[in-house]
Amino acid sequence: MSKNYDVVIIGGGTSGCACAYNCAKLKLKTLLIEKNNFLGGLMTGGLVVPIMKSSVDDLNCDYYKNLVDKAKKYHAQIKYKDGNDGWFNPEVMKIVLEDLLTQEDIRPYLDILFEAEVDSVLKDGNSISSIVLNSNLLSIPIVSKYYIDATGSASFSIKSGCQILNDTKEKQQNTLRFILGNVDIEKFSEFILEVDKDENVTNTYRNDIDTNSELHFTTACTWDTNKIWALDKYLQKGVSDGILAEFDRSYFQIFSIAGTTSQVAFNCPRINNYLDNPYLYSNELINAKQAIYRLYQFVKMNFPGFDNSIITNIATQTGIREQNRVKTKYVYTIDDLEAQKTFETPVLRANYGIDIHSAKKDSSILQKTPNYELPIESLMSFDVKNLYVIGKIIGADFKTHSALRVQKSCMSMGEAVAKHIKTLI
Ligand SMILES: Cc1cc2nc3c(=O)[nH]c(=O)nc-3n(C[C@H](O)[C@H](O)[C@H](O)COP(=O)(O)OP(=O)(O)OC[C@H]3O[C@@H](n4cnc5c(N)ncnc54)[C@H](O)[C@@H]3O)c2cc1C
Repeated sequence: MSKNYDVVIIGGGTSGCACAYNCAKLKLKTLLIEKNNFLGGLMTGGLVVPIMKSSVDDLNCDYYKNLVDKAKKYHAQIKYKDGNDGWFNPEVMKIVLEDLLTQEDIRPYLDILFEAEVDSVLKDGNSISSIVLNSNLLSIPIVSKYYIDATGSASFSIKSGCQILNDTKEKQQNTLRFILGNVDIEKFSEFILEVDKDENVTNTYRNDIDTNSELHFTTACTWDTNKIWALDKYLQKGVSDGILAEFDRSYFQIFSIAGTTSQVAFNCPRINNYLDNPYLYSNELINAKQAIYRLYQFVKMNFPGFDNSIITNIATQTGIREQNRVKTKYVYTIDDLEAQKTFETPVLRANYGIDIHSAKKDSSILQKTPNYELPIESLMSFDVKNLYVIGKIIGADFKTHSALRVQKSCMSMGEAVAKHIKTLI
């Protein structure tokens, strides 16, 4: 006896949800396997909000648009002044995503299994024939025509015998994101606009339609010397007062959050990337909580509006920017991007830039790019015939990966694979 599907997606995060939604919409019998008890991956569990603008046209953006519409109904979305409508509320998005993926036209075609992981993969030559889950309740094999690795770590591809690209020793820094509540955003915005006159770094936005009259803001500061960072003198003082460690200055970025007038999301602290050593990696997660507490003390003491703030969330999923990239039929490179190479079946058209977070001062890169396309072949496993990879594990070199990994592009990848598989079945 077995359970049979057209498509099995492993990982219900940013890209996996987009793929599941589109597969079901196309009436493909689909199973989505998620190890957490909620959907969204980095978007929800990792507290990665807002998403970055990336698409330059509407290619494979149906899911994104439906997500925005659904989130709007839950007051979990705003549109910022730069036109970015991907300012979401990470906790409410857990509810939004489940609503979207269980809506009337989707539900008959999509099964979702939470707190489930793949135990073993059975192969027939170069194809996956079935998988068995680690669930006592579902011990029968699951058989599918196609499998999609959306785990963000490529753990399913590795289990299935795929090669991992080994083209560089470069690493992205990880980040454990957190949220402070009970912040007086009006008061802080007044202060920050006085301190930082650089509109490209610090700005605020409020209107009746886009932000439901909520006041929103973004600001940032790094220890890199490529520009004058207005907040740096405060962070330097934090270090000399003994509140912050020197490394806490490396990257500081905060945003208000859709649907609240008192919560602030931190895209920091950065932590060292020790993914190849589980002991060091775990120690870094302990260091990260200490850094979060230091940053909390720092803003409380130095920034008006944070006086009564409290820590409300620490990400339950570590912010790993890059871990394993799978060898695919076509490995996308920086030469392709720079040449603006076009492809027969593009997955997305985007322009989010090269974005590398380095541990060393003055070594991080945030560089504009021309518009680029990614081919479907960069999502097709080189080694396993009926396996596709989506999200931050695609076949791209380190540099182009740093641009392609943003959430909207990951969603387009999920959508593109669903549409592609529909043409094969
Ligand atoms: C710190 C940080 C900041 C970022 N900032 C931004 C930003 O500001 N804007 C932006 O657009 N992008 C940003 N990104 C990039 C973006 O968030 C990610 O690249 C993208 O979300 C990755 O999507 P994914 O689907 O590959 O992985 P994820 O969203 O991580 O989804 C993977 C899912 O798979 C599940 N899973 C894993 N293993 C298994 C398994 N064995 N079985 C079952 N389920 C499994 C996980 O629980 C998770 O739900 C940031 C990333 C990081 C780390």
